[in-house]
Amino acid sequence: MRAQGNAMDYVALPKIELHAHLTGSVSRRTLHEIWLRKKEAGETDLEDPLVVMPEGKHDYNLKTFFPLFSSYIYNLLTDEESIRHAVTSVLDEFLADGVVYLELRTTPRATGCLSAEAYVRVLLDAMGAWESHYGGDDAPLHARLILSVDRRHDLATAESILALAARLRSEGHQQQRVVGLDLCGDPTARPDGGVALFTPVLGAAARDPHGLGLTVHFAEAEASGSRAELDTLLGWRPGRLGHVIWVREDEEARREIARRGLCLELCLSCNVQAGMVRGGFEGHHFGYWRGVDGPRLSLGTDDVGVFGSPLSNEYRLVAQHFKLDRDQICALAQQAIDSIFGGEAEKQRLRDIMWT
Ligand SMILES: [Zn+2]
Repeated sequence: MRAQGNAMDYVALPKIELHAHLTGSVSRRTLHEIWLRKKEAGETDLEDPLVVMPEGKHDYNLKTFFPLFSSYIYNLLTDEESIRHAVTSVLDEFLADGVVYLELRTTPRATGCLSAEAYVRVLLDAMGAWESHYGGDDAPLHARLILSVDRRHDLATAESILALAARLRSEGHQQQRVVGLDLCGDPTARPDGGVALFTPVLGAAARDPHGLGLTVHFAEAEASGSRAELDTLLGWRPGRLGHVIWVREDEEARREIARRGLCLELCLSCNVQAGMVRGGFEGHHFGYWRGVDGPRLSLGTDDVGVFGSPLSNEYRLVAQHFKLDRDQICALAQQAIDSIFGGEAEKQRLRDIMWT
């Protein structure tokens, strides 16, 4: 890692990103480029995304901005060329930010031009082509894919996502890039334990014969922090939990999380900017969890295209607001190694890179 005096180079710090939604990670610059090509081909009537959402402007009310951003994503990322462009740019940007291992997540979706399965296959192919360009196994960034089940899905859709993951993984090397499943989506959907609907799928994902990694958005909002829901989610044996905000009053859940040594994917800028936590960065529950024995912590960006804070900046914010010194920051970056879903060889690669 490069150092200038005592100053730390957070970009040069090798980093692991485990909580990044693919479409939320697309930059406005990339959306503009895709829009421009479509505009010139007469394929879109949308306004220039860089005019509607100027770069560097992140102080929108999220209730208005997120639907705007999403409408550009869903209207522009419809064909193979645009999706390839988006994935390639996202990988370029994580690499430029010093990320050495990345698990992107996405909800399989039909786009009008592509079926949900074709969409995922385009992603995998684009990720493989990107890595090949950088030397295959020698690429400085290795990227994997997590398929998300949305809380608004029905059981049949969730089943089809697990089946797709299993089918892809049985096909060979390139498709082995699918390493896990996720539960995401509007936290107010299926409250009070209604997510138990997905138990036949997500309760089976981490077990034989699937053996997939499982991560879930956990107590992201008060509506998704009920005891019934947390019991259900923990019953699925996830290896990682995203956000973990609304458990401050739930000692039983906190004790269980610590006892299992789960990995917590904490997204500071997202939580603070979206008003999901109180008390700004200093009040973020990173401060609580770093004092608890057991859990491993992993910083994530969630939707860097929306919040504009790359992973290097998340480490800088943590150092600044929680007074972590250089050694503590390096130790924090290493905590996620054993919680990746990419397998033993990948963990060893990360130890070789990060334990220096
Ligand atoms: Zn998320």
